[in-house]
Amino acid sequence: MELTVLGNNGPYPGAGRACSGYLLTQGNTSLLLDCGSGVVARFRQYLNLNRLTAVVLSHLHYDHISDLYVLRYALEAARRGGLRQEPLPIYCPAEPEDVFSSLQYKDNFLLKPVQGGDTLEIGDFTVSFLWTVHPVPSVAVGLKGGGRRFIYTGDTEYFAGLVPFVAGANLLLSEANYRHREVEAGKGNHLSAHQAACLAREAGVEKLLLTHLYPEGDEGELLAEAREVFPQADLAREGGIYRV
Ligand SMILES: [Zn+2]
Repeated sequence: MELTVLGNNGPYPGAGRACSGYLLTQGNTSLLLDCGSGVVARFRQYLNLNRLTAVVLSHLHYDHISDLYVLRYALEAARRGGLRQEPLPIYCPAEPEDVFSSLQYKDNFLLKPVQGGDTLEIGDFTVSFLWTVHPVPSVAVGLKGGGRRFIYTGDTEYFAGLVPFVAGANLLLSEANYRHREVEAGKGNHLSAHQAACLAREAGVEKLLLTHLYPEGDEGELLAEAREVFPQADLAREGGIYRV
């Protein structure tokens, strides 16, 4: 299994950067996890649209979905040009309902609602979902394939149920929107780098990559905070390709 980081910023991209977007490949299957601002241009550096199996969205906040609104034009062109026949399946929580229904575009997307607790087979992946704690319905996503296990937290606060879901993963891609002093000062809805590292340690993962990086933040400080707890932590580097 291979992870390509297309974008790692949130909730908006810094100069020359992109928001959440991660390409996972296993065998003949390619999944795009989240599709934030700038992800489509990056995606096209690595894969033709006709080889994309499906998109999985952790939740319907715009920094995770906004490029779907232009991906639909690329898909339309690919289908008109005979490069792709099938509509593109989009797996995501079905709320907020107005955002969910706004994703549909002609017959180019096939919207497939998911819930925490679901497990699905998508091509060469077994995909599982866990509800997380965030202002809109949001899931963490687990992928199993080729005997390896990858977990993406999506967006979430820290809660105890994360640990068993993440347990034993080969690679944990965790959001780390905050320095821990911000969480201690009462900020919610997201993890700190410290919490991401604690999760990695508690769950016994092999490797931790930090993402959903605040564009005005100091990434070096964030990484140092995580490595105090979990020395194998790293930043999810845009353009980085990681073997899971
Ligand atoms: Zn969010």
